[in-house]
Amino acid sequence: MADEMVLVIEDNELNMKLAKSLLQIGKYRVLDARDAETGIEKAREHQPKLILMDIQLPGMDGLSATRIIKEDPTIKHIPVVALTSYAMQGDDQKAIGAGFDGYLTKPIDTRVFLKTISQFFVKDQSETQTQKRKMRHKARVLIVD
Ligand code: MN
Repeated sequence: MADEMVLVIEDNELNMKLAKSLLQIGKYRVLDARDAETGIEKAREHQPKLILMDIQLPGMDGLSATRIIKEDPTIKHIPVVALTSYAMQGDDQKAIGAGFDGYLTKPIDTRVFLKTISQFFVKDQSETQTQKRKMRHKARVLIVD
């Protein structure tokens, strides 16, 4: 069921483990990548329905990776949600500039994580667009561990 597949690009093992656990609780299929290059390859190969993207990654960062995704006709339709550290001031604005469709701040809040993810799996397309716009305007979803 590729319909429910989420790709997580994150190099921090604790964050990866938590994101995977939560996504599995939410019955999503999870693909993982520890760096941007691998993540982009997996996105092209598996066509996930959503990508969660860490900003600070070894090698290419999440901002550059998202620009590449959004310029690639084969994967640019996939929403990309940034996983940003709350402490990184200005990451939210950079994230929006890089073409992210939304973002979650770390540490991950287990209570709102799946709720935010589920907004990208709304069946009705117009509703999804509205949610995306809302994400863009609200810009910040605070996540507390
Ligand atoms: Mn990182």
